[in-house]
Amino acid sequence: EDAEMKQLHSLPDETRDGEPFELLANCFGPEDIDTAMQSGAKGVGLLRSGYMMLPGRILDEQEQYFFYCSCLAAANGCPVTVRTFDFGSDRTVADANQGPQSSKLGLRGIRNSLRQPQQFQTQICALLRAAARGPLRVMFPMVTEVEDWDAAMSIVEHCRQSLRERGVPFNENTQFGVMLSIPAACLTVEDFIAHGCDFLVIGTNDLTQYTHAADRELASAEHYYRPASPAMKKLITMVMDAASAHHVPVTICGLAVGNPANTAQYLHLGLRSFSVSPQNLLKVKQALLDTDAHPDAGEKD
Ligand code: PEP
Repeated sequence: EDAEMKQLHSLPDETRDGEPFELLANCFGPEDIDTAMQSGAKGVGLLRSGYMMLPGRILDEQEQYFFYCSCLAAANGCPVTVRTFDFGSDRTVADANQGPQSSKLGLRGIRNSLRQPQQFQTQICALLRAAARGPLRVMFPMVTEVEDWDAAMSIVEHCRQSLRERGVPFNENTQFGVMLSIPAACLTVEDFIAHGCDFLVIGTNDLTQYTHAADRELASAEHYYRPASPAMKKLITMVMDAASAHHVPVTICGLAVGNPANTAQYLHLGLRSFSVSPQNLLKVKQALLDTDAHPDAGEKD
């Protein structure tokens, strides 16, 4: 079994018909990034930043900066995509303190960050500084329409200005992206691209939940929770069409991606970048190695 794993690990990340893909990991911090890298991940597609929080206290800028730098170090020079705080989904002790602010249809993610600009600025400054130390990119969760993006990016601009004034080194060209977890955001994806969004990440856990109005944690709604449904396919296709027209990279993440049947379907919808939990990496790699990216290619003529 171990030898089999080693062999799988050494094979190139290419589909059966030779199409390269990128395997990334969903992580919480340096420890599981380390595990993921050992299992062959080529970086972190989703870092749930809320995990570093201690109960009842938001870390200051310096503490956050050290945390992000330690994540970059664990990733050995590979890219790390940090999701700004998403209390309610980050699954942290801090979640419990957020009360109605972490409600599923309430002020989660960027909605919460925009209402707490001080806390958001602290996080953005720490991220911009860490991005000078390695390939770190930043994405906003629970973005609904382009107004959220504009509001978030104007705070980013404010942070850049204040770091310049403080004379603190940071990365002027840090990439910013949108996590697509709300159907409204998928339906208006062109707007984010037009407003300078550098990359997109489809979060299947939340996108399935909000598309199907099926609570991802409610066993009784399980029947309605379908991450590869025709509705999901349509939304993902819209995203892929817009993204490929404008050369914007897209990653897909979430539990559903760890299920080989879904992975193949996402591959066929045009996805080439997959982010899964460290324990699912090799399973997903095997599934992609066994699948053709273009299954009908040989039958056309
Ligand atoms: C998602 O929404 O698909 C996702 C991976 O994020 P999380 O499970 O942390 O909400």
